[in-house]
Amino acid sequence: MNSRHLSFPHPEPPKTKIRLYPVFLPFAGCPFRCIYCSQKLQTGTDISAAEKTAKEIFALVSANFARSRKSISLGFFGGTFTAMPLKDQLLLLNMALELKRLGAVEHVRCSTRPDCVNEETLNLLKNYKMDMVELGIQSFDDYSLSDSKRGYTGEQALAAAVRVKKAGLELVIQQMPGLPGSSASAFLKDIEITAGLEPAAVRLYPCLVMQNTVLARLWSEKRFQPWSLKKTYKLVSLALLRLWSKKIPVIRIGLAPEISLLPGIMAGPWHPALGSICRSQALATYILSRTTGKEIRQISIPGRYQSDFWGFKKKNSSAYLKRGITTDNVRLSQGDLFELVFEPNYY
Ligand code: SF4
Repeated sequence: MNSRHLSFPHPEPPKTKIRLYPVFLPFAGCPFRCIYCSQKLQTGTDISAAEKTAKEIFALVSANFARSRKSISLGFFGGTFTAMPLKDQLLLLNMALELKRLGAVEHVRCSTRPDCVNEETLNLLKNYKMDMVELGIQSFDDYSLSDSKRGYTGEQALAAAVRVKKAGLELVIQQMPGLPGSSASAFLKDIEITAGLEPAAVRLYPCLVMQNTVLARLWSEKRFQPWSLKKTYKLVSLALLRLWSKKIPVIRIGLAPEISLLPGIMAGPWHPALGSICRSQALATYILSRTTGKEIRQISIPGRYQSDFWGFKKKNSSAYLKRGITTDNVRLSQGDLFELVFEPNYY
């Protein structure tokens, strides 16, 4: 390639292909209910850990395995796993271990809070062959953590993340941009800290105002204003670029569109295609940043990224047009690389 040509792969690191079977344990072990949290609406279930027994999960997963012979990843979400009564943790850990022995499960994870992991709890998880811990850190910013009444400091959150890694467990960091007391700069600083921790993956859940939460009351009293969609697209796409540059996959952006979720959203940056909009905005920013000061004659893009390239409802078109990219000079390829050819005057 000479200087009239530039080629590069999609900046997003590859994600694991293994199917995740989520087990929701709404509020199980949570020391209190967080001001924004509505697990019933978010997960579409209000079945408690006690009702949805380990026995039922075992029967379902092993039956699926007998049919498909494909092992899965098992995840315990929706509560604070490591703060559940020990007997409940052991019930689920034993069940997961047995499914691993059978080959039906090859990866197990749980979600918990940063103030509920110590050496002892992490050792227990390790002893039962847990692979990954997802920490609902939400922010490292003391101001935001205090305004959001999370009950721990940024330093404690950081220490917890380090502890998980030191214990030899894979770490996933969950962040919640737009919490009370947050700002664009604090969020981008959070992303820097997260990038520095080099977690196995990140989830980003922009803060929504859900029915029957303390945040809903604060919002109705005009004491809290969630981020707009536009602000969220911009900041999340910047966060993606930073995390991708460190090869950290972002495995979820925004809450899954459960049927029960939509009527419960009172305000905040919700869009069914939030993740793909942020991803495509990040991709466009990345491509355009590679072309500064140059006019493009032709661009060839891998066919599978066509919709990412143009964005939801062709949102990226106007930014491309300013740099001479139109439908006329974009070609689809079967390859893996984006290939740009610049006008001769510009090389
Ligand atoms: S710890 Fe997590 S699951 Fe529990 S109430 Fe808070 S946000 Fe909800």
